[in-house]
Amino acid sequence: MSDCLFCKIIAKKIPATIVYEDEKCVAFADIHPKDKTHLLVVPREHIATVADATEAQEPLLGHLVVTAKKLAQQASLVGYKLQFNVGKEGGQEVFHIHLHLIGH
Ligand code: 5GP
Ligand code: ZN
Repeated sequence: MSDCLFCKIIAKKIPATIVYEDEKCVAFADIHPKDKTHLLVVPREHIATVADATEAQEPLLGHLVVTAKKLAQQASLVGYKLQFNVGKEGGQEVFHIHLHLIGH
């Protein structure tokens, strides 16, 4: 088991409010929500940052965006933000790629 927080949440070693799961990704509520809805859409595969992503991972990254869109529709959000923070200077604190879905 890696020492990664989000790998542990995906493996259900650490509790989280998981709202969606499929074979490629898991979505759960952010512990410090920035709006009424704040989810993190996280690939099961451990990739530290978008800066490390390869062309082979393009479909996986696209899947995160389409999954976030579906979750936004399910939550009937009127508008929302999709955000990847990349690198420490880019505001990234957890080094396992995650797409923020923030809206109301
Ligand atoms: P980053 O700054 O890396 O883009 O975003 C990391 C996000 O993970 C932050 O919004 C933070 O609130 C959230 N977070 C940090 N620790 C935990 C945790 O243990 N559980 C959950 N559900 N979210 C967390
Ligand atoms: Zn990880």
